[in-house]
Amino acid sequence: MKIPVVENVLKLNDEIARQNRLAFEAAGVYVVDLIGAPGCGKTALLEATLQKLGGILEIGVIAGDPATSRDAERLAGYCDNIVQINTGNGCHLDANQVRQAMGRLDIASLDLLFIENVGNLICPVGFDLGQHSKVGMFSVCQGADKAAKHPYLPLVAAAILLNKIDLLAHVPFDLQQFRADLKRINAAAPLLEISVIQNQIAPWLNWLTHACTGRGEHRAPEYQPGVAES
Ligand code: MG
Ligand code: ZN
Repeated sequence: MKIPVVENVLKLNDEIARQNRLAFEAAGVYVVDLIGAPGCGKTALLEATLQKLGGILEIGVIAGDPATSRDAERLAGYCDNIVQINTGNGCHLDANQVRQAMGRLDIASLDLLFIENVGNLICPVGFDLGQHSKVGMFSVCQGADKAAKHPYLPLVAAAILLNKIDLLAHVPFDLQQFRADLKRINAAAPLLEISVIQNQIAPWLNWLTHACTGRGEHRAPEYQPGVAES
């Protein structure tokens, strides 16, 4: 009877996520769940974002990693409201871990909360954390086929980041193919092409400030078999 157990785990997760969402709404904080593979630049993006927007918005971060508090230490220079979650063998954050972390943050004081998920393109997509938006992050170093191979992330994402575009001249990456795949999977999600290391993140900052001000919850479209494949 394995399937009912899995269903119950997700049901419980969804219920806690619902409570998280209510708490975020009550606190008036906009919450972004940032999902991408290890090394795509999630923490570097958050560092740059905190530098740019930290003086304008009150920002907090929940950082998930299997081990170490290195991300939290990197980000602590720019923000006080930060919690690191070590998931050990766990390959994603769940709503209960986020709820525990929320207890260690002053969420009522925040305008914006980032949840940096565990570096993984698969199961973080399926776990609702109570966020307003899931944002997917790729980099040109990973290869242009990754959105097509992992279509559920772009499918549910409110926006897609493509980082390290400064390396386009140095790595084999078919940008037209990547753009076409994303358009086919989820035409509604804007593709934000950025280079964190060269401080070219304006498309992201524009999207983020707009999303944060609008405060709308992003409703992911239904998955249609065949649309995201091939
Ligand atoms: Mg990180
Ligand atoms: Zn997982």
